[in-house]
Amino acid sequence: MLNKIIMTVMLLLLSIASTNAAIKQSKGDFEDKFRQLDEVLPTPNVYRNAAGEPGHQYWQQQVDYQIKARLDEHKRRIEATETITYKNNSPDTLKYLWLQLDQNIFRNDSMAAMSSNFGGIGDRAPAARAGSMNKPARLSLDHLRRQQFVDDNELGYEIKNISNKSGKALKHVIVGTNMRIDLPIPLKPGKTTTFTIDFAFNIVEEDAVSARSGYEHFPDDEREGGNDIFLLAQWFPRLHSYTDYEAWTNKEFIGRGEFTLEFGDYEVELTVPADHIVSSTGALQNPKQVLSTTQRKRLKEAQNAKRIVFVVTEQEALENEKAGTDKQKTWKFSAENVRDFAWASSRKFLWDARGHQQGGNDQPLVMAMSFYPKEGGDLWKKYSTEAIIQTLEVYSRFSFDYPYPVAQSVNGPVGGMEYPMITFNGPRTELQDDGSRTYSQAEKRFLIGVVIHEVGHIYFPMIVNSDERQWTWMDEGLNSFLDGIAGREWDPTVPWGVEPRDIVGYMKGSVQVPIMTQSDSVLKLGPNGYTKPAVALNILRETILGRELFDFAFKEYAQRWKYKRPTPSDFFRTMEEASGVDLDWFWRGWFYTTDHVDISLDTIYKLRLDTKDPDIDFSRQRQEELNKPMSLTDERNKAEGNKLWVERFPDITDFYDENDRFTVTNKERNKYQKFLKKLEPWERTTLERAIKEDKNYYVLEFSNKGGLVMPIILDLSFEDGSTETQYIPAEIWRRSPKAVKRLIITDKNKVLASVSIDPRWETADVDVHNNHYPRKIIPSRIEAYKKKKSTKKVSRDIMQDIKTELKTEDDDETEAPEKDG
Ligand SMILES: [Zn+2]
Repeated sequence: MLNKIIMTVMLLLLSIASTNAAIKQSKGDFEDKFRQLDEVLPTPNVYRNAAGEPGHQYWQQQVDYQIKARLDEHKRRIEATETITYKNNSPDTLKYLWLQLDQNIFRNDSMAAMSSNFGGIGDRAPAARAGSMNKPARLSLDHLRRQQFVDDNELGYEIKNISNKSGKALKHVIVGTNMRIDLPIPLKPGKTTTFTIDFAFNIVEEDAVSARSGYEHFPDDEREGGNDIFLLAQWFPRLHSYTDYEAWTNKEFIGRGEFTLEFGDYEVELTVPADHIVSSTGALQNPKQVLSTTQRKRLKEAQNAKRIVFVVTEQEALENEKAGTDKQKTWKFSAENVRDFAWASSRKFLWDARGHQQGGNDQPLVMAMSFYPKEGGDLWKKYSTEAIIQTLEVYSRFSFDYPYPVAQSVNGPVGGMEYPMITFNGPRTELQDDGSRTYSQAEKRFLIGVVIHEVGHIYFPMIVNSDERQWTWMDEGLNSFLDGIAGREWDPTVPWGVEPRDIVGYMKGSVQVPIMTQSDSVLKLGPNGYTKPAVALNILRETILGRELFDFAFKEYAQRWKYKRPTPSDFFRTMEEASGVDLDWFWRGWFYTTDHVDISLDTIYKLRLDTKDPDIDFSRQRQEELNKPMSLTDERNKAEGNKLWVERFPDITDFYDENDRFTVTNKERNKYQKFLKKLEPWERTTLERAIKEDKNYYVLEFSNKGGLVMPIILDLSFEDGSTETQYIPAEIWRRSPKAVKRLIITDKNKVLASVSIDPRWETADVDVHNNHYPRKIIPSRIEAYKKKKSTKKVSRDIMQDIKTELKTEDDDETEAPEKDG
C-alpha cells in the first residue's frame, strides 16, 4: 500500500522529527553489537533451512476459489457465492479452518473501531478553565464523516450459508474479522475439502472510510444520479494462512497490518451493469461476450504496439458515462497461482493497453493496461501504462520474469494499493475554469511513483509471499528499496526517499520501535516500514556488499521464495549465505534496535618515528622544546631589556650553562650501540628502513555517538592537493563499539591536511558536523524579521462589529478577500 501521506513524506522529504515524546526508546546501549544473530532467529528446520532456503520438506496450503458475484450498482452491494477447495499440504490434521472476514472491520463494534485512540485532545485545558489560552479539542470533519457513514450503513459481511459438498450446513463461529469453520471430519494431511459460502455486503464509500477499496461517487457527471467507480478488494471470505511457523495466522485485522494469504487458482464470474468496463486479477475468459469486435481488435493490435492503444477511447468513455443501462453482463476471469483477487468496475473507464514483450519461456508477452476516468486525463494517458512496463523491466532484472498475463493500473478513490495483476492508484488531473485539465509536478511524480510502487508489489509480496500482518518491512521495505531503483532509473531528480540522507531525521529521534516490530504496533509506519528498511538495503548494496554481491544474493532470495512464504530469518540468512559476508551486526543494528549512525572523528595525532640514535633524537627533542611558545613573562622581561643575573655576572656560570638536559654523552651512545647489537638482523633492517623512510604516522580517534556500528569511510586530503578514500569495515568496532583508533601511515612528503568521514553521505550519519577534522564552518541561513506589533486586537469589539452588514452569496464572489487583522 502507499497512501498519499506516506508518499508525500517520501517525495517532499518533510521533516519527520516528532513532537510526540510519550514513548521513549532506549538507544545506543553499546552492548552485543557483534553478537551472533542465531540465538534470536528461529532454529533452522526441515521447512526452512539454515541457508534461508525452503527446506526439503517445505509445504504450504493450496486454496482454490470459484466465485460468482453480482454488483448491484443501485444498492452499491455485492451478492456472491464462493466454492472453496482447500488442500491440506501440512503434516498436521486440521479440525477447523480459519477465514478472514475483512469487511467486518467496518462494523461499529470491530476491534479496529473499539481500539482506536483519540488523538485530538492534545494538551487542551478543561472547558471550565478561563482565559484566552483555552482552546477546544479537535475532531476532523473526515473523522465525523466516517462516523456518520458507519452509523448510516449496514456494514460487514452477511454470511448466509456455509455448507459442504453434500449440502450439509457447517458449524461456524465469527470472531471479529475472523471466522472458524468446524469440519465434520478432521482434514488429514494431503486431503482436500470443499465447501460453499453465500455472502453479501454493502460496499463502503472509500472517500468516507478511507479503506483499501470501495466506491467513489461522481455526482457531477451528465448522467442523472451521477456515476461510480467500484474498486473491490478484501471482498470475499478468504482463508487465513496455515503455516509451519505460526500455524493459523489468524491475528485480528485492525487496519494497518495487511494480509497473510495462501496461493491458489481462481475462476471468477463478475456480473455487472452491461455498460461497465471491468479490470480484474486474471485473464479474461469470455472476451466475445463482453467486448465489442472493435475492442478485441484493438487489444490484439496493442500486443505489438510501440505506444499505448486505446481499447476504450476517451470519446467512447464520455459517451458511455452519459447513458447507463439496466442490462447486465458477466465477465469471466481465470487466475492461476495468485494469493488474492481484486477487481474494478465502472462505465467511466477509458482503457489503454500496450504489450510488454519480455521474452523468456514462461510469459513472453505481458499486457500492461490502464483503466481511468476522464478525470485521469493526459497524466494517465502518458504515464500509467508506461510506468507499468518500466517497473516490470526493472523488477524482473532483480528477481524473475513477471509470471502473469496482465499487469494493470486502475484509477479510483484509493491512493495506492496492490493486488495480483492489478493495482489501484489515486493521482489525477485538475479541471480548470477554461475546461482544460492540468496537473502539478507533484501529482505527476506521485502518479509515476505510485504506479511503480504498486506494480512492484505484484512481485513483493504478491509473488514473494511474505507475511504482511506480521512484517510491514518485508512488504513495504523491500518494495520501496526496489521502487527507488526503478524510480531513479526513471528520473533521478525526483526525491525517491531511499537515500541514506532521507532517514537521518527519523533515526535521530527517540519516538521509534525497531523495524522488527509487528505491523500494527509500529510507530511512524512511513519511516519505519518503508524508508528505513529501504535505506538499509540501499546501504547494503552500494556501500557494504557492493552491487555484484548484493544483486546476486537478492535475486537468489527472490527466486528461492517465488510463490512461497519467506520469513525475516529466511531473508537475513539468504543475504548472508549467498553474499558470503557476515551481516549479523548489520541486521542487529538496523532491524533490531533504534540506534542511529553518528560517527565522530575526534582527534588526529601526527607522530614521528624515534631513531633511537641519541645524537638525532635528543636534538629533535630540544627542537620540540624550542618550538613551544615562550612564557609571556620571560618574553616581556626580554623586551624590557631586563638582563638575567648570569648575564650581568658572567663569572658565576658553570658547566650547566653550556649544557642542557638534551646533551648527549657516551653513556647514551654506548647504550644505543648495545641496543643495535641485540637486534635480530631482520629487526635491524626493518628499523633502519623505517628511519630512512621517515614516514608520517597519523592516529585517528573515532567515537561512536549513535550506537549503530557502520563502516568508516574516510576521505583523506593531503597538502599536495591529492586525495585518497579508505573504507574501514564495520568490524573495526567489534571489540570496542564506543571508540576506536586507526593508524594511517603516509610517505614523508604526503602530509595530511584534513580528513572527512562519509563525504558522500552514504551511511546515514545523522550529524555531519563532527565528520570533519579539522572541524568545518557550517554554512546555513539566517533571516531578518519584522517584529509583530503587540497592539493587535485580542478581544472582539462587539460595539463596532455589530454594525457589520450581512453578506449575500454574490458579495463573496465580487468582494476582495478580507485582510487578516
Ligand atoms: Zn506499498
